[in-house]
Amino acid sequence: MPIYEYQCEKCRHCFELIVFSSDDKKITCPKCNHGRVKRLLSATCFIGTSGGGGCDSHAPKGFS
Ligand SMILES: [Zn+2]
Repeated sequence: MPIYEYQCEKCRHCFELIVFSSDDKKITCPKCNHGRVKRLLSATCFIGTSGGGGCDSHAPKGFS
């Protein structure tokens, strides 16, 4: 199963999600519950933060 990275378009929170199909229209931000997120093809949100905002919690947490 592919694990994709998403970034919330509202709060820019980055999160990873296992996507069972190409159906990613129902994904909401786990942080602010915003309904618009964009899928990242790579770890772009980790390196593409050109000042301000950005990803503050990219380290995987809760995986035990
Ligand atoms: Zn959000």
